[in-house]
Parts: sequence; structure tokens; C-alpha cells
Amino acid sequence: MHSFLEKQFGLRGQVALVTGSSQGLGLAMARALGQAGAHVIVNGRDPGKLTPVVHRFAEHGLHAHAIAADLSDRAAVQRLVEESIAWKGHLDILVNNAGIIKRTPAVDHTDADWDAVLNVNLNGVFVACRAAGKHMVARGSGKIINIASLLTFFGGVTVPGYAASKGAVGQLTKALSNEWAAHGVQVNAIAPGYMRTDNTAALQADPKRSLEILQRIPANRWGDPSDLEGAVVFLASHASDYLTGHVMAVDGGWCGR
Ligand code: NAD
Repeated sequence: MHSFLEKQFGLRGQVALVTGSSQGLGLAMARALGQAGAHVIVNGRDPGKLTPVVHRFAEHGLHAHAIAADLSDRAAVQRLVEESIAWKGHLDILVNNAGIIKRTPAVDHTDADWDAVLNVNLNGVFVACRAAGKHMVARGSGKIINIASLLTFFGGVTVPGYAASKGAVGQLTKALSNEWAAHGVQVNAIAPGYMRTDNTAALQADPKRSLEILQRIPANRWGDPSDLEGAVVFLASHASDYLTGHVMAVDGGWCGR
């Protein structure tokens, strides 16, 4: 890499944990961080899905390590972060990507659906931030990147728990940034637009909703997981050292419309 790019965007020797990285946006972001030089910890609930990812990364010269953990379980999240720190003795980058969505009208949204969404999308994110933040603040450096949503800004339709959780992720990002910026730890969020992954499978399969969404996207296409690669490397790198408390939409122009 050219020395300017290496200094600004290179992540050589750094350790990154990407939660929920066996597929979708998390997989694309984990790969991108690895390609920028980071040692990457891939995570998901099912170890059987993580091992092939580590092997595929290795075939492309990327250094990855798998740690399975269920992010709806606070103790498991705490363990995940502690084991991630223990792997190389430090953790430089945390990407809180794992997230779930339950689509039901508010009047039918059960407590179980609400709790399931809030547990993974908000409670797990806070526990991971707290555990990683404690380590990063003590070291005087670190990057935390939370995966928010357009529903951090908008209310969405028939996904009340998801909208509430992602709105909270935006506020949590700012709250942590306010506390940790002076300690060299930047906390930002990426708000992806409508991306082609399992998370949006129901929308993609509904021709009416799918077309409505497409017609509102100025870029005139749904996003692809690869559209987040540059954004996550930027927010993980020295290039963004004076950028914190920000929710960056990568949405083909949706928010501007
Ligand atoms: P996805 O369903 O393909 O991936 C979600 C990932 O989270 C999977 O790897 C899954 O295994 C993991 N996960 C879910 N629950 C978990 C748990 N309890 N423990 C551990 N891992 C768990 O969807 P995606 O689109 O890649 O979603 C990634 C993130 O991006 C989510 O936070 C989602 O809300 C957010 N997002 C997605 C879109 C989109 O259009 N796809 C838009 C905005 C935000």
C-alpha cells in the first residue's frame, strides 16, 4: 500500500472483533478489515458457520479467529470481549454488527419479540461497548463502530422493537463518544440503507415494498454488503481519529431525500 494510504487507512497488527460476522454485512466488514491488515475475530452463535469463514479468509491471506457467542446473553457478550482481548493481548476495533428484526404490527408485537430484539440490538451492544471501552480507555486508543440503521432516524413500518433499538444505538453512540473521546477512543455508527441480506429478505420478496423502496433511493439501487467496506475501514483507521459521536448513513442518498 502507498505509504500515505498505509498511514491513514492501514490496520496492520490491530485486532478487530466483528459481531455477527458469519454472513451479510458483518462478513463483508470483517473481510474488509482483514484486507486492511487487521487480525479479525469473527463471531456468531453457531461455531459450524464460523470455521468455514476462518478457512476462506486464510485462503486469501487474511488472519482470522472464531469465537462463538450468543449476543442475547449478557454474560456471553462479556466473555466474547474478554476472549477477544486475550487472543493477542489487545483489542483495537469493535464492530457491533449482530442484529435481528421482528416484523409485526405494533398491536401484535409480543413481549417475546420486543425482548429478543432489544436484547441483541441494544443490551448486547451496550455490554460489548462497556467491556471493550474499559480496555480501550485504559490503553488510550480504540475504535468502536456500532451498526445503526435508517430506523435510527425514521420510525419504519411494523418493526417497532427494531426502530426503538436502532434509535437507541444512535444515542448510545453519542453518549459513549462524549465520555471516551478525551481518552483517544472514537465511537461512531454506520447507518446502512436498504442492503441485500437476510435481514431484508422479507422486503426483497415483497414486489410492492421492494419497488417502493427502490424508487426512493437516489442511487437507484439497493445496497450490497460490499458498500460498507470503505466506510468501516475509514472509521476503524487513523483517518477518522477526529471523527466521533457520528452516525454515518451509507444509504445511496436515502436520508438526503
Ligand atoms: P443478517 O441477518 O444477514 O446478519 C445478522 C448477523 O447477526 C448474522 O451473522 C447473525 O448470525 C448474527 N446474529 C443475530 N443474532 C445473534 C445472536 N444472538 N448472537 C450472535 N450473532 C447473532 O443481516 P445483516 O443485514 O447483515 O445485518 C447486520 C446488521 O446490519 C444488523 O444489526 C442489522 O440490523 C443492520 N442493518 C441491516 C440493514 C440491511 O438493509 N440489511 C440495514 C440497516 C441495518
